[in-house]
Parts: sequence; C-alpha cells; structure tokens
Amino acid sequence: MRYDNININREKSLIRSDDLDKIAIDDIEHKSKVRIGFSEFSINLYNNTKNKILKELNASEEDWNNYKWQLKNRISSVDEISNYIDLTREEYENIKNVSEEYRFAITPYYFSLTDFDNPNCPIKLQSFPDIRELEDGGQLDPMNEEQSNPSGRITRRYPNKLIINVTNACPMYCRHCQRRRLIGKFDKNTSREDINESIEFIKNNKTLREVLITGGDALLLSNNHLERIFNELSQISHVEVIRIGTRVLATLPFRIDDELASLLGKYKVQLSTQFNHASEITLEAVQAIDLLVDHGVLVRNQMVLLHNVNDDMYCIQKTNEELQKYRVIPYYLFHPKDVKGIGHFQVDIDKGLEIMKHLEGRTSGMCKPTYVYNSPGGLGKVPLVPLQNIEPVENGYKFTTWENRIFTKNFDD
Ligand SMILES: *Cc1c(COP(=O)(O)O)cnc(C)c1O
Ligand code: SF4
Repeated sequence: MRYDNININREKSLIRSDDLDKIAIDDIEHKSKVRIGFSEFSINLYNNTKNKILKELNASEEDWNNYKWQLKNRISSVDEISNYIDLTREEYENIKNVSEEYRFAITPYYFSLTDFDNPNCPIKLQSFPDIRELEDGGQLDPMNEEQSNPSGRITRRYPNKLIINVTNACPMYCRHCQRRRLIGKFDKNTSREDINESIEFIKNNKTLREVLITGGDALLLSNNHLERIFNELSQISHVEVIRIGTRVLATLPFRIDDELASLLGKYKVQLSTQFNHASEITLEAVQAIDLLVDHGVLVRNQMVLLHNVNDDMYCIQKTNEELQKYRVIPYYLFHPKDVKGIGHFQVDIDKGLEIMKHLEGRTSGMCKPTYVYNSPGGLGKVPLVPLQNIEPVENGYKFTTWENRIFTKNFDD
C-alpha cells in the first residue's frame, strides 16, 4: 500500500476518471470546430490577403508592422473592400448604404484575418458594415452617460473608481460598439483642459483609488501624451491603480512595442482588452501580449457576447482557454446592450447563463469570466449567475454542482 489513507478506492476512482475523460473528449471534439488564430487555415487566409494588400499599396513588410502605416491605410470604403474580394451588386450597395449612416474603418491587419467564404465569419461580422444595422429598435443612449459626468470627461458610477475618457478614436470601428453614438462619428482626442479638469477632480476626491483611462481606444494617444497623464495620476497619493482600456491587442497589435510596454510597466498600469473570438488570438497578438506581460503589465479580457460571433459554449470555452494559455486572464463576459444599430448581435440572457453553466467545472477557473449585465441609467454592472447554482430552501440552501448533482446544506448542520 503506497498510501496511508485507507479510504482510497482505486477501482471507483478509475471509473470516475474514465467518465471524466468522456466529458473531456466530447468537449475537445466540439472545440476543434472553433477557428483559432494559430491554425494553418487562419495563417493562410492572413498571408493571402496581406500579400494582396502589400502589392496593391506597394508597401513592405516593415510598413505592415508599423502601426502608423496600418492606421493610415485603413480600409474605409466599399471600393477599397472590392479591391480584395468580389462583392455582389447587392453586397456592394448594402455596404455603401450602411457606411453613409455609420462610417467604417478596418486596419489592414484585422481585415486580413477575414474568411470571406464564411458569411458568419466572426472577423467579418465585427468589422464589415451590415445592412441589419439600419433596422429599427434599440436605444441611442441606454447607458445614460450624461448623468454620470461630474467633471471634465469623467464617468463615475462607483464609490472608489472612475473612468476618464481620453479619446473618441479607435483603430477600427467595431460594428457591435455599444458607444457608437459617440464613436465612429468623429475622431477627437479629449482636450488638455478637459483632461486637466478630470485630474483635478480626482485630486480633490480622496475616495478614488482607481482610475480607468479609456475611450475610444486609449492606446491611440501618443506615448508622450500617455506619460503625462500617468505621471500626474501617479503623483496623487490616494490613486493606487491606473488601468487602460484598449482593443489594440485585437485590432492593431503593432501598437505595442518595447517603448510602450516599458512605459506601462514603469507606472504599473493594468490593462483591459477585448478579444471576442479565438480567431483574433494570432501570432501578432500574442507577440504584443508577451511584450506587455514580460514588462509586468497585468492583462485581462473583457469579451462581449455577440450573436453568431461567439454565442456558443464551446467557442467561449476555447477562446478563454486560448487567452489563459497566452497569459491573458478572462475578466468579463458582457451581455450586449440594447443600442440602436446592433440589434442583430442580441443574445437571450438564458443563452448566456447556459454558456456560464457549461464553463463551470468543464474548464479551469482561470478561464471563467464573470457574466455581467449593464444596468440602464448608468446604475452599474450586475453579475449574472445560473439560478440553479444556489437556491434557498426551508432551513437551508440547495446547491447544484457543475454536473447537476444536487446537495443541500441546512443552517444547523
Ligand atoms: C465598468 C466600469 C468601471 C470598472 O468596473 P470594474 O468592475 O472594476 O472593471 C468603472 N467605472 C465605470 C463607469 C464603469 O462602467
Ligand atoms: S474598440 Fe471599443 S470603443 Fe472602439 S469601436 Fe471597438 S468596441 Fe467601440
């Protein structure tokens, strides 16, 4: 006997282990259908389109890896799209009509991840104008941000943290953007005066321990501009944490270079990003993640649940497992907001809860985001958890495990 513990039953344990294998094998089978950025298929798509673009624009590999070149050469008209793919007359007209109402811009990098043959390609759904954007329904300002702005360009809804909105610009205008009322209409950095006023407000409110610098995409500010803000915030003794909100890891990974990663590391900045699908986690994205993590920057992911993009339990599982593998910790899974123009991305809350239920036990705790719903009127985020997990019963609670096994605990146990 190798163990002193006489309670071990090897036979039963092996039967249990075999049962768990069956569940894992089933998951692996389903997850293998999710397209990942590192697959040969994805890399081929990318290289094909990338080479076409480089040829069309007479540009070099060095240009491609330069984020300024990427920004300058964004694909932002239907004619540019039709340089690279054959659009039907109807597709052409649709993109044209939508882009007159909501402009679009796609970095050549992100565009090259598109699988043009798949009508539900997650990259395409997030970046190409879609005729359904013109459908009625949804609100213009469901967040009521107008009532959460005590000073400068601040949004405050919580006791000890707030947001400073430093720009309206983004490398790409995500079709599902929940702030599209402000973003994708004009590009404007917040004025120095408004930033100064925001910082002054933070200075005068000792309750504020965390400041989120966001946009738009906060990493579209220059390094000098960012450093000035970090420097001023770091001199306020009650500000313990500076956090940046950015999507460049997915849309413009070349923005992260050694200089920026060092700057973020120097001020111990933490970062929230947004990957919504495993196909966005590419070699280029992982190089950017590595630079950040190696400089000590904490990186967490805020995914948005989006119909046809990722509203599938295996897709969410695979995407979060890829993130964990490359050292990005899943943070939130946002339920999509009811904003005008993005109704076609809506998902039922039941579906989101079913996905969360699936993740329990089926994957590492490090791969599990918190599913959240944003309250109307700017009242804050509400975490959503499967109802059956814990239910009050007479004199105690009933619990349901990840495999739907039930046990109860009485108050007097
Ligand atoms: C989401 C949000 C935050 C940050 O909340 P965390 O749960 O800490 O990520 C801060 N301020 C506002 C206004 C927010 O909407
Ligand atoms: S990066 Fe964020 S703010 Fe910018 S368009 Fe995409 S979702 Fe909206």
